[in-house]
Amino acid sequence: MLIDAHIHAFAEKIAARAISQLETTCHQKALTDGRLSSALALLDEWGVDKAVLLPIATKPTQQRIINDWAAENNQGKIVSFGSVHPEAEDLEEELYRIKELGLRGIKLHPDYQGFFINEPRVDRMFSLLEELGLPLTIHAGLDPLSPDLIYCEPEPCAEMLRRHPKLRVILAHMGGNERWQDSFEHICGMSGEVYLDTSYPMYIPDELMFRMIRRHGASRVLFASDCPWTSSRDAFEKIDALPLTDDEKEQVFFKNAQYVIGI
Ligand SMILES: [Zn+2]
Repeated sequence: MLIDAHIHAFAEKIAARAISQLETTCHQKALTDGRLSSALALLDEWGVDKAVLLPIATKPTQQRIINDWAAENNQGKIVSFGSVHPEAEDLEEELYRIKELGLRGIKLHPDYQGFFINEPRVDRMFSLLEELGLPLTIHAGLDPLSPDLIYCEPEPCAEMLRRHPKLRVILAHMGGNERWQDSFEHICGMSGEVYLDTSYPMYIPDELMFRMIRRHGASRVLFASDCPWTSSRDAFEKIDALPLTDDEKEQVFFKNAQYVIGI
């Protein structure tokens, strides 16, 4: 059994444009053409049983459209999260609608949504999410959209999490893309429902990744690729080669996602 807790795809109408813009921003060729059907074909090939689709509302007006699309595709191999925008006037209403639509969590991307993780103006959003009890995946660490300014650094993120101890949060990219040492120091080992996903893992030194998993606990790390930017197969092989026990690998590869996301 293999559950990939972090993939991206776009609605048919916008997929081509979205993926070409992202390829330019990321200086990387995507593995799909952005369509969900293309991702599904690859996930089959890579032996992924379930994959968590993480859409991002980059404008307040996009929330409803994106969440309706996510809900339509929340079936079969795909487990969909929804997204809210911190500046949306109907944010609270949309959070309840996300729950009603049966979406399984929320994705936030501070870089694309223009907020710092520890900013007072977004604190109420985290309180609402805490009350709602839905899992929340947050992009953490460097994003090529804003390489010189990191919106979710591990240390301020840890401060925010300490103010919201009931938040069921999945920090992407092992708690901070390209900020793994800081994540090791400030995030790994934190108490509470703080989980890490392994998305975009190819640049994390193996030895550090192993120490991060052991320090945080293999029961709180979720396997993830960040498809179409990394293949689930490459991500799987990297993690499978770490000197973890078979029990720890089972937790990371599917059991934790089953528990945290309710798959
Ligand atoms: Zn991602």
